[in-house]
Amino acid sequence: MSGCIALVVAAGRGVRLGGGVPKQYRRIAGVPMLRYCLATFCGHPAVDLVRVVINPDDREVYEEAARGLDLLDPVPGGESRQDSVRFGLESLGGEAPGTVLIHDAARPFIDAATIARTVRALETSPGALVAVPVVDTLKQGPDSDGGGTPTVGGTVEREGLWRAQTPQGFRYGDILTAHRDAEGAGLTDDAAVAERAGLEIALVEGSEDNFKVTTEADLERAERLVAARGVVRTGTGLDVHAFGPGDHVWLCGVKIPHSQGLVGHSDADVGLHAITDAILGAIGAGDIGTHFPDSEPQWRGASSDQFLAHAASLVAARGGAVLNVDVTLICEQPRIGPHREAMVACIAGLLGLAPDQVGLKATTTEGLGFTGRGEGAAAQAVATIRLPAGI
Ligand code: MG
Repeated sequence: MSGCIALVVAAGRGVRLGGGVPKQYRRIAGVPMLRYCLATFCGHPAVDLVRVVINPDDREVYEEAARGLDLLDPVPGGESRQDSVRFGLESLGGEAPGTVLIHDAARPFIDAATIARTVRALETSPGALVAVPVVDTLKQGPDSDGGGTPTVGGTVEREGLWRAQTPQGFRYGDILTAHRDAEGAGLTDDAAVAERAGLEIALVEGSEDNFKVTTEADLERAERLVAARGVVRTGTGLDVHAFGPGDHVWLCGVKIPHSQGLVGHSDADVGLHAITDAILGAIGAGDIGTHFPDSEPQWRGASSDQFLAHAASLVAARGGAVLNVDVTLICEQPRIGPHREAMVACIAGLLGLAPDQVGLKATTTEGLGFTGRGEGAAAQAVATIRLPAGI
């Protein structure tokens, strides 16, 4: 091919931010950090394919962050960032792209306009570096750490200085060769690798929002930025199925032995159906019957987890994210309590959410109505999603 591939470097072990996962998987407004830049690259008209370089130990959290996005399979990184990028570049040999954009996963807010400027710069230059001019006056610290309050050692001329960001774009063959030649050189960005090879690199204006998340304060800044940009929507769902012959029911993705079954075209999982409808409702995308009609035999006995996964993928395709769901199961039998944890885990897994983003409650109707008489089970659900502003 001759197109452009975005190579996102997410192999770092930066766990100093806490949270039990490397920082690129920490959540910002409920969404794994890595997912923000992936969604932007995947949705960009100038980017043909996207590949992520990961640490193999992170495979599970990666799958969660990448769910529903159209990505090349991830490849394993190396000991250093420089090694990880080289492995990523080597892995693209089969695709043989014309250009690559190398991006750090810890910069979640790369925007479409900056990507477009970078790609455009590569039409006339073998390299393109996204950067912002230094505006603060720069001071030299003390020569050595003598303890106590550090003192100023002097003022550094800031004229002409820029702070490098990512993406950094290159013609594929050039940067692959440069990286092979620079193996072990301990360079901290790809522009340095390209400079070492004597490649000319265009400066492309970046954005202050394209900052690197390094500290807890950065994470808080990221939360504020997302809150200021997104549009929050809610949807509701309600579903009912009648009891009939059988020896088990499916509820919220969990198979529960029971003296009866629930009757339906699919597996009649009222819980997952209600949540699916709530998500579809939040994006105005019809209901479960629109997407999976009863009239189509392929959905006979279908496992309802695919319905929910499809609804979530529609949200992802709009650049959005499910923030939480809350479902109430309404039935006299079976008892839900013993299965609650497994149900929450199933829903959270299907939607890429943490367990505390999934509400799951059960109630009887005190013997009243069709649920009270044991004729059927019902469920109602609410879903909250965030879409990018302007959608
Ligand atoms: Mg149903």
